[in-house]
Amino acid sequence: MLHALCDRFKGCEWDLMNKTGFLYDERYQDHKTGRYHPEVPARLACIYQGIKDAGLLSKLIPIKASPADLKWIELVHDRPYIERFEAACRLNESVFDSPDNQMCAQTYEIALLAVGGILDVVDQVMTGKLDNAFCAVRPPGHHAETNKAMGFCYFNNVAIAARYLQNQQGIQRVGIIDFDVHHGNGTQHIFEGDSTVFYYSIHEHPSFAYPGTGREFEHGKDFGYGYTKNSPVLPGQGDEDYKRLIRSDLLPAFKDFNPEVILVSAGFDAHADDDMSDMKLSTEGFSWIMQNIVELARHSSKGRVISILEGGYCLERLPELAANHVEILLNA
Ligand SMILES: [Zn+2]
Repeated sequence: MLHALCDRFKGCEWDLMNKTGFLYDERYQDHKTGRYHPEVPARLACIYQGIKDAGLLSKLIPIKASPADLKWIELVHDRPYIERFEAACRLNESVFDSPDNQMCAQTYEIALLAVGGILDVVDQVMTGKLDNAFCAVRPPGHHAETNKAMGFCYFNNVAIAARYLQNQQGIQRVGIIDFDVHHGNGTQHIFEGDSTVFYYSIHEHPSFAYPGTGREFEHGKDFGYGYTKNSPVLPGQGDEDYKRLIRSDLLPAFKDFNPEVILVSAGFDAHADDDMSDMKLSTEGFSWIMQNIVELARHSSKGRVISILEGGYCLERLPELAANHVEILLNA
């Protein structure tokens, strides 16, 4: 009897959960960056294992990657840039555009698979097959400019997703929330003259951290003035500082903007144990941020949150951070 009741309760619990997509494809690990590079394939293996060990894998809807059509990449990137990137991979060059961007012959194909998988997720969220999703992709994207690879990034995944939502899915207002510890220079530059995409970033202060952009006074330009908001955080600061800035900067701005879909540039490199930054954000601090994002989305965006992996390099912490992240999406 007790078993029967438990089973019934489990069934109810299942019904209450969201249809959360999980974009993961082993081919994302075929983008090799060299022996001493922090953006390693093992990051994704850790994320997958963390979600599996937490018993969450069976509750997620798996999405596999397919390559993006170039016409969607061209919504953001110049054709000559795309061709340069493809040619560099074909010639098996190991570095592209900046010393940070180490790659292999497969990198171009894998970058297309990252975008393609995300656009599939966008379609499924917009048709209601999914409520929300986490896209565990490599390479990351938020530093990529329209015509330049930077900071481990080649195609700006989140920016392409935003433009695709507008061009293919008829969405007018897209909100992007970037909590990677580094400022998303590429994403900001792509949308800084545009009032239809609001870019919010919280990151380590640019005087102390790569890439040196994302100061408080960068608010956007021309028609986009007021639709970019940056919350720089000083080295050594942690949960309480993040909470204060998110309450004062992000929440009111997004309530006003009322985005129809929220995209997240989810970087986990502000964690206290991540060597990539001097921030002291805890695992619980990350959960608090994500909980606030899903609540924002519930009010403005019918719960539509598509989270896309950016940085996060502490292989010991990534499993729990990813598991908590998807659990919040499941229960949102
Ligand atoms: Zn980062």
